[in-house]
Amino acid sequence: MEQKALTLDNFMTGLQRRNPGEKEFHQAVYEVAQDLIPFIHEHPRYREAQILERLTEPDRVIQFRVAWQDDKCNIRVNHGFRVQFSNAIGPYKGGLRFTRNLNLSVLKFLGFEQIFKNSLTTLPLGAAKGGANFNPRGKSDSEIMRFCQTYMSELYHYLGTELDIPAGDIGVGTREISYMFGQYKRLTHHFSGVLTGKALESGGSHIRKEATGYGCAYFMKIMLGHNNEHLEDKGCVVSGAGNVALYCARKLIALGARVLTLSDTSGFLHIPDGLDDDTLDEIIDWKTGKRGSLKQFAEKRKIEFHAGKKPWSLPCDLAFPCATENEIDEDDAGKLIDNGCKALAEGANMPLTAGAHKVLQDTGILYAPGKAANAGGVAVSGLEIAQNATRLYWTPEEMDHRLQEIMEKIHQQCLEHGQGPEGIDYARGANIAGFTKVAEAMLAYGVV
Ligand code: NDP
Repeated sequence: MEQKALTLDNFMTGLQRRNPGEKEFHQAVYEVAQDLIPFIHEHPRYREAQILERLTEPDRVIQFRVAWQDDKCNIRVNHGFRVQFSNAIGPYKGGLRFTRNLNLSVLKFLGFEQIFKNSLTTLPLGAAKGGANFNPRGKSDSEIMRFCQTYMSELYHYLGTELDIPAGDIGVGTREISYMFGQYKRLTHHFSGVLTGKALESGGSHIRKEATGYGCAYFMKIMLGHNNEHLEDKGCVVSGAGNVALYCARKLIALGARVLTLSDTSGFLHIPDGLDDDTLDEIIDWKTGKRGSLKQFAEKRKIEFHAGKKPWSLPCDLAFPCATENEIDEDDAGKLIDNGCKALAEGANMPLTAGAHKVLQDTGILYAPGKAANAGGVAVSGLEIAQNATRLYWTPEEMDHRLQEIMEKIHQQCLEHGQGPEGIDYARGANIAGFTKVAEAMLAYGVV
């Protein structure tokens, strides 16, 4: 049969027809396909084997009911999900997210991104993403525990150290992973590395909690260094006040940069002279221990606060979106550029809208995509799996060293595949490098 010409338009029309209404998934695939389609034309074997068509179809989508009881004994029902996207180069691996409006479109975008990110880490990790449309905000500790246990009671059928190894993401931190691991052990009687991001005493790894944020700061340092620039004294606008943002801020401070902002769903904190380590400790305790908002923290500590606003209109040298998808739109991107921003590294997954992407591309500022810049988290998860398998644990210093090495290797792959007439295109480099390893494995397996 004659094949239809592989153009971006044809490809996206087919994808949208097969996956109607899944706009986040369409957006994530579009960003990758615009780089991959020209590359595939240069390498017809990928075209003949329909690699891109196969790679945009998850291996399987698992959806199930999570029925649990709240503290008032009301019965509540949520959707539970796991999208196992690709195990071409290793067992399925990717986080679990608990947010109110979680849906399959968001999970498919995240699972698809994870294919490239996990490949870039150089570790044998396949790709998946999962979670539930469950809002942890305002829930008691025992409600969270019951929810996690019920969620795991179904999910555990699909997990295994050679099969699928979830971690955390938005709304799922060490507390939730520990509840899920406890339930997994109860059901299977196995103490195994089937989840990562575990507490240290249950087989977790040093630096896992910090790894995504630290890795993002390291990637920016390496990228600036490659472009004859440095981090010292640079003004950094950071969004988010969760796992990624707080530890990105921590490492930026350690590397001599000034962290001007943190944000959450209540608004953003502005610290014109730069956040110091002691205040950051207090914020970490406030957000992760007391689970308060930044607005309440700012009121208590009398720090400048902008309620309900995003931080992108402030003058800065560097930007680190570390909260959530599509948090920077075209206008925000324009303001960043107008206010002097020279480089942006994505701690969050797909924090830029398509319009914002275009603004950055047109102005040519240094741009590190999430699949490269935030891969430190899954990389250290990969190292947690290795430690669990051997029952040998590395020190924080060894882990930090390995994390830096991996971020260097990811940068190197971006350079190898992203060189163009106008300098390095890190997004293209990451897309092509991530794709090539997975595509070669798929070719070797034949049609499966
Ligand atoms: P957390 O749940 O720990 O923190 C998320 C933070 O972002 C919170 O401070 C939250 O505010 C804020 N936030 C979320 N949505 C919005 C919004 N619409 N507007 C303003 N602020 C918002 O999540 P993580 O730090 O783990 O994840 C953040 C991002 O990084 C996500 O895109 C995730 O997929 C990505 N990521 C995470 C990795 C990890 O290892 N955890 C690995 C790689 C990527 P509030 O506190 O008010 O809820």
